[in-house]
Amino acid sequence: MVLDKLGSSLKAALKKVAAAIFVDTRLIDEIVKDLQKALLESDVDVELVFQISERIREKAKKKPAEGISKREQLIQIVYDELTELLGKEKKELVIKKPHKIMFVGLYGSGKTTSIAKLALYYSKRGYKVCMIGLDTHRPAAPEQLQQLGEKIKVQTFISKNERDPLKVWQKYEKQLERFDLILIDTAGRHSLDAELEKEIRELKKNIKPNDIILSLSADIGQAAKKVVHGFHTSCGITGIFLTRLDGTAKAGGALAAANITKAPVLFLGTGEKPQDIETFDSTAFISRLLGMGDLRALLEKTKLALEEKETKKLEKSFEEGKFTLIDLHDQIKAMQKMGPLSKIAELIPGFSQVKLPKDLLQVQEGKLKRWHHAMESMTKKELENPETITSSRMARISKGSAVSSGEIREMLRQYKMVKKFFGITKGKKMSQKALQRIAKKFKFKM
Ligand code: GDP
Ligand code: MG
Repeated sequence: MVLDKLGSSLKAALKKVAAAIFVDTRLIDEIVKDLQKALLESDVDVELVFQISERIREKAKKKPAEGISKREQLIQIVYDELTELLGKEKKELVIKKPHKIMFVGLYGSGKTTSIAKLALYYSKRGYKVCMIGLDTHRPAAPEQLQQLGEKIKVQTFISKNERDPLKVWQKYEKQLERFDLILIDTAGRHSLDAELEKEIRELKKNIKPNDIILSLSADIGQAAKKVVHGFHTSCGITGIFLTRLDGTAKAGGALAAANITKAPVLFLGTGEKPQDIETFDSTAFISRLLGMGDLRALLEKTKLALEEKETKKLEKSFEEGKFTLIDLHDQIKAMQKMGPLSKIAELIPGFSQVKLPKDLLQVQEGKLKRWHHAMESMTKKELENPETITSSRMARISKGSAVSSGEIREMLRQYKMVKKFFGITKGKKMSQKALQRIAKKFKFKM
């Protein structure tokens, strides 16, 4: 996949959102920072990165729409901003037979290679395609095109000894009329200088191409903006063929820069071979880049685990200052779906430093069932105030439920541990505010 590095950094950031239990400013800040790092590494213009960061922060403040969780909202915001950055609309070449496409671009940007790619692409789709070499500056250029033509079995017109590209065109013009698609290779230079500009203008005037495609190497990153702008003003390009996406970490910058100029990126070159071509559908591309499919699955999964019902109850218990054995049971059940509390705590900003007892709320399912039986043999008072369970009461409960007193004791130990943990940590009494914060956090609301 192209843009591997950018893709994996962005995916990692979004996975953080999907896995987070709470979307708060701290998480948003963290995500924005991850995003900035990924985009800057991909050579996206600093100013653009800054604007995106601000917009994400602003949009994340809004209340999510009905039925949408805060996490989904944040992922959507990031997705929207990136689509906006790399190009939102899908543009396609519309081929009207006979269709002439002239390729322009800097020297070595991939014009000749990309023409062969496009020739193969359209001939596979049933078009009668030909190529014509008007790069008369380098003696090896027409031969390169011809060799490619032989390889992909596409008819190629060249004139080895002719120095004037227009003359080459005129020589073959009539013969070209019987093709559906005529791909025209032109010369490039190290920069768009006056002479090259003049040549392109002259060719454009005489050939009247339906499209002028700029071949642009993605490894120039944000410098693409200047190149696209230059070619656009001098000859009015209608689209971009972005090459060398396979070998650069800067492609994000190139795509973003190209998007600013409003010349649509139509194709991507992803290797040296003629078949290494992809059409560019920005939204699909970005979904793939971000692993949106994976993310959706991840969101679904976490949603299942975070059942609100149980957690609401717990919150209520905390608010009322009550925590019963029933709450313990429900909470352990919820934890069984979510995984160890220590893992969940890692995801709560500011909570990861708190030392959690290793086995807090970690009870095997079989054992939990037996605890449940024991609870059924308890009175309401015992359930609500397990402190009142004396050894004679314990014996009664054990007999009634066929659960060993050892296991009932273990349950009571767990109960005390949870209560202690949420009430007092490290012998220090937690402030009411801190307690509320944790209770609120344990709402597991998304
Ligand atoms: P031109 O001077 O603009 O016609 O550029 P060429 O088509 O001759 O390409 C210059 C070099 O870039 C050649 O070695 C190509 O094989 C290479 N190239 C072109 N497109 C791609 C691409 O998408 N990926 C990779 N890896 N190399 C490419
Ligand atoms: Mg060439």
